Amino acid sequence: MADEPGSFRFSRVAIIGIGLIGSSVALALRAKGFEGPIAIGDRNGDALRVAAELELGTSYHTSAAKAVAGADLVMLCVPVGAMSATGRAIAPALAEGAIVTDTGSVKESVIEALTGVLPAHARVVAGHPIAGSEQSGPRAGYGTLFERRWSILTPTEGTDPEAVDIVADMWRRFGSEIELMDPKRHDLVLAITSHLPHLIAYNIVRTAYDMESVAESEVIKFSAGGFRDFTRIAASDPTMWRDVFLNNREAVLETLGRFSEDLASLQRAIRWGEGDLLYEVFERTRAIRMGIIDAGQDTAAPDFGRPRSHTDGAPEDGAARSVNGERG
Ligand code: NAP
Repeated sequence: MADEPGSFRFSRVAIIGIGLIGSSVALALRAKGFEGPIAIGDRNGDALRVAAELELGTSYHTSAAKAVAGADLVMLCVPVGAMSATGRAIAPALAEGAIVTDTGSVKESVIEALTGVLPAHARVVAGHPIAGSEQSGPRAGYGTLFERRWSILTPTEGTDPEAVDIVADMWRRFGSEIELMDPKRHDLVLAITSHLPHLIAYNIVRTAYDMESVAESEVIKFSAGGFRDFTRIAASDPTMWRDVFLNNREAVLETLGRFSEDLASLQRAIRWGEGDLLYEVFERTRAIRMGIIDAGQDTAAPDFGRPRSHTDGAPEDGAARSVNGERG
């Protein structure tokens, strides 16, 4: 359990990568009473300017090394493919015994990248908040993003248990529940629950737009159905998701293989008119959806609680932010 409000177990924070997740961490820290300095590092000058305008931190740096100087907690919120370079950049500037944690959506490759480049005195605690959305950049962040969400930490044999406690305490203060998981297991679980769904969404949207027989305007006009939810997911950040697939290749390919076999069985059932099989599968998947709602991971409201417009049932706020957040 978290201690009394405000008493985080670190005193100087550096956040590298001030996008959706980094900005949400900064906002959550302040919302939960962290009063120490928050140094923000990002290679993107525009993102830094926005962060300064929103007063997300106390100092702003294009040099990650300058940002981490003196910090006892360093949060790496850059895309997974940038972890190694970021680790290398901060390595010489890290304070003795600093905790270096991350929010990357893949864990084995990040642990390998960080432990390979960081000095032995740095205490690495790999993590992944299961929260977010298809939006990116510092304006997309919000301080309640992690509330009632899981935050997965993936300590390995060499991980300092005290550092794990300190990072877990931070996420609990943000309102998250903690799950400790083996990194390989994390990557396999997320491959099926998050990475594959994104791949399917990217592909279905691509296919729909590439189909010569379906005019683009019709795809947009009639996208009030299930397709629209795919377009929301397929609008997710291209850099982040390219890196996820390249860094979780084996687990994604393994789940994709299973998926393709199951899809082929549905294809066969349609071809041969096997209605019972289709019904049985759809009944089972509906029960899974009910389980997700019962677990408080989504809303049971029709159309994910989107307000109805009188014209076509499309959300009045356009592509609404996901109810359940990221699946990164
Ligand atoms: P984001 O909104 O795209 O922000 C990433 C920021 O990091 C950008 O400002 C980017 O700058 C910057 N950056 C990239 N490479 C850098 C480098 N080498 N040095 C310094 N800054 C660098 O990304 P995000 O959605 O917050 O995701 C951050 C991390 O959290 C990723 O590892 C992702 O897998 C993970 N995650 C994401 C979600 C989600 O829903 N989005 C959820 C959970 C976890 P540029 O604009 O110049 O590239």
